[in-house]
Amino acid sequence: MEEAVKSAVDIITRSYTVVFTGSGISAEAGIPTFRGKDGLWNKYRPEELATPQAFNRDPLRVWEWYAWRIGIILRAKPTVAHKVIAELERKGIVKAVITQNVDGLHQRAGSRNVIELHGSIMRVRCTSCGHTWVIGREPKKEELPLRCPRCGSVSRPDVVWFGESLPREALSRAYEHFSKAEAVIVVGTSGVVEPAASLVLLAYERGAKIININLEANRYMEYATVNYIGPSSKFFCLLAERMGISIDE
Ligand SMILES: [Zn+2]
Repeated sequence: MEEAVKSAVDIITRSYTVVFTGSGISAEAGIPTFRGKDGLWNKYRPEELATPQAFNRDPLRVWEWYAWRIGIILRAKPTVAHKVIAELERKGIVKAVITQNVDGLHQRAGSRNVIELHGSIMRVRCTSCGHTWVIGREPKKEELPLRCPRCGSVSRPDVVWFGESLPREALSRAYEHFSKAEAVIVVGTSGVVEPAASLVLLAYERGAKIININLEANRYMEYATVNYIGPSSKFFCLLAERMGISIDE
């Protein structure tokens, strides 16, 4: 395990490095994941809560579910992994954080160049005029479904639902970074959600070294130069120690 950390430091300190994250990093902050044995999709049906059709049918029900998740996320705190990643960006080592998460924990940890491939649960988008805004607190029940402050239309969480395409601007920025990347630190993702997951392989095919950190074996293991199977907080704690990075916990 120490060896994995040492190799990772050697690689990232001499490479154009990007970070790619998935739900595993947020799970360590106590945020429920979607897939897997304790995942939300074992208890809820995605087609009733996370599709444009579901929203058109019953915006209130969809909003109640999102308001509940917003509450959980606001009560959660960024982990050591989030904080060390932000510090690596401040040091000029990490050039961008490309995330599949919608919880905004990277920004709260201090990351600046965050590319959100699946949108943000903290943002709301008007279904009529397209106005978007950020919410800083859990919406109250009587406010749901949230309405646009400009035109009064019913508005939706600004996240990517099933059957929707990824935001074009985020995707093209992600492509740009992955095509320049000499190293990709992959954190907490099984690599099954497309097209996000294949971006890492694009970088790999162009010669980037993959550093793969995940709780269990995943798709990236066979491509990775460094594999660390364990909690990302542990890995980044060791990495910070080795690089002399101090973070307040
Ligand atoms: Zn509007």
